[in-house]
Amino acid sequence: MIIVNDKHLRLNSTMVAQVVAPRNTQDLMQIVSQSERIAIAGGRHSMGGQQFCAGTTLVDMTQMNQVMHFDEDAGLITVQSGMMWPDLVAYLRRTQRWSIRQKQTGCDALTIGGALSSNVHGRGLAFKHIVDDIKNFTIITHDGCLRHCDRHQNTELFRLAIGGYGMFGVIVTVTLRLVPRVVLRRDVSVSYVPIDDLHKAIIRGATYGDFQFNIDHDSPDFL
Ligand SMILES: Cc1cc2nc3c(=O)[nH]c(=O)nc-3n(C[C@H](O)[C@H](O)[C@H](O)COP(=O)(O)OP(=O)(O)OC[C@H]3O[C@@H](n4cnc5c(N)ncnc54)[C@H](O)[C@@H]3O)c2cc1C
Repeated sequence: MIIVNDKHLRLNSTMVAQVVAPRNTQDLMQIVSQSERIAIAGGRHSMGGQQFCAGTTLVDMTQMNQVMHFDEDAGLITVQSGMMWPDLVAYLRRTQRWSIRQKQTGCDALTIGGALSSNVHGRGLAFKHIVDDIKNFTIITHDGCLRHCDRHQNTELFRLAIGGYGMFGVIVTVTLRLVPRVVLRRDVSVSYVPIDDLHKAIIRGATYGDFQFNIDHDSPDFL
């Protein structure tokens, strides 16, 4: 038995039977076929403990972290789901042409599989969640079969697995739509904005936006 925990708050101590870290699709198919129950972990940052299950095999996806295909003309990249955002961003920086559109903020060591399974959002003010950036993915379902999912093939599984928290299978590869690389200007204003005016204040033509709460506890606008 091994004790695992989430990496952020360490609130989810769980005793699992074993941890396995497959390096390729074949290994992964074998693990799924031979296991009665598994849980799947990427960067292990989720704070709700949804990446663990007591007494079962924990499949650690972080060794499956390679770029599989890059179509530089179309701006499409296929990666193994255990790849983390900083590695993908570093790979793309070499091209100086394409970039990811969004990722979670506040933490970087998160996997693409974890992002897809949680249907995450970044700080894009007019973007849909990451489902909008996914062209297709492959997934190993409970029967050990590898399936291709997109908006035309295995559509129900496509809908379920994005935001499915690993309950519909192990995502193996993900094809992401990229956006052309641009230079952004950071515009910071230090002023208090009443919550009702927040939307107007943040948008002002910005692509990405964020705000902090008022932390002066003597102020009537506290938080
Ligand atoms: C500091 C911080 C900031 C955050 N900011 C944001 C934010 O801005 N926006 C946002 O949307 N979320 C945010 N989150 C939540 C974060 O998106 C999730 O915690 C994210 O999914 C974690 O990715 P991970 O690689 O650590 O996945 P894990 O925590 O390891 O797993 C997350 C879920 O995905 C499943 N999973 C992982 N890999 C696979 C796979 N290959 N196949 C199938 N299922 C899989 C797991 O079973 C689990 O259910 C934040 C979390 C932290 C700690």
